[in-house]
Amino acid sequence: MSCSGETVEVNDLIQIRPKIIQQLKKAKYGVADHSTVELCHWTKKSFKNEGDCYKHKFYGISTHRCMEFSPAGMFCENRCVYCWRPMEFYDSLKMEPDKVAEPREIVTKLMEERKKLIVGHYGDPRQDRQKLDESLLPSHYAISLSGEPTMYPKLPELIKYLKSLSQTKSIFLVTNGQEPEMIQRLQDEDALPTQIYLSTNAGDYDSFMQINRPRYKDSWERWNKSLDLLSRLDTRTVIRITLIRDYNNGDDMIPAFASMINRANAHFIEVKSYMHIGRSRNRLERDNMLSMDEVRHFATELVKQSGIFSGMDESEISRIVILQNKKRFIDRWITAYAQTN
Ligand code: SF4
Repeated sequence: MSCSGETVEVNDLIQIRPKIIQQLKKAKYGVADHSTVELCHWTKKSFKNEGDCYKHKFYGISTHRCMEFSPAGMFCENRCVYCWRPMEFYDSLKMEPDKVAEPREIVTKLMEERKKLIVGHYGDPRQDRQKLDESLLPSHYAISLSGEPTMYPKLPELIKYLKSLSQTKSIFLVTNGQEPEMIQRLQDEDALPTQIYLSTNAGDYDSFMQINRPRYKDSWERWNKSLDLLSRLDTRTVIRITLIRDYNNGDDMIPAFASMINRANAHFIEVKSYMHIGRSRNRLERDNMLSMDEVRHFATELVKQSGIFSGMDESEISRIVILQNKKRFIDRWITAYAQTN
């Protein structure tokens, strides 16, 4: 058994440390080896017919049949100031291919963990039982939750496995852009998700270092490589800009963001406010959140200065505005099932 940071190796397989698992379980996570799963806040609201998430509103994904998970639960190369997850536990070490669980094993074990999280809802009369039944068979996968999924060396196989499941309609992958080689591998191995998100939160090198607090020496170069890759990917692409007051929301930042989104030529731009939730409350203030009008202002200026995007929709409760690429146009609604047989 060897150890580092908050993970250990048991029988040559990376595991999250028992004391961390305890804390994650308290936070209603499911854990299997180095992977994590959770019932998203919005999925739980949807069970009670109290609303769906903005991805349902913008793209039509099924909020109550969403499985939010990560194959790299406690691994990340960055320590972003606005991260709501337990990043203080993160490990930055490389996940060696011979030390990680196989995709089928991860999905099978996490589905079991997720079922345990869902079953508890049946006892509550406010819950929509039909939705609970349907949620046991996910149709949408959000590969994000905690850690950086592109650190998992078998990610192409994992996405292909999810695509082979009959109920799979859509797969979203969120990346911090620190592993451009993995993004290229997803393209080369025909394992791209339905939609790939590049987290974008800095218009220049200095604010990138201040906001992301990266571990890699060439982190800025890696992120820019991922940005340019987006323009060549054969799938739906999204740049998600998280705005933090007094960090990156000044009008002086807009020209740099406008040139970045044009370089990536992404299909959609999500402009959203930082949200004062989870562990981020130890690092930032509520005042670091933007109002919806401030988010609208930033998005409107971005439209003016980029010239290829137009406003598509917004969600006030999530403090987000979405822009659509008029030049690299794609239908907003995800209709086709993701399977590859
Ligand atoms: S898509 Fe994202 S926000 Fe919507 S239910 Fe899934 S994890 Fe939650």
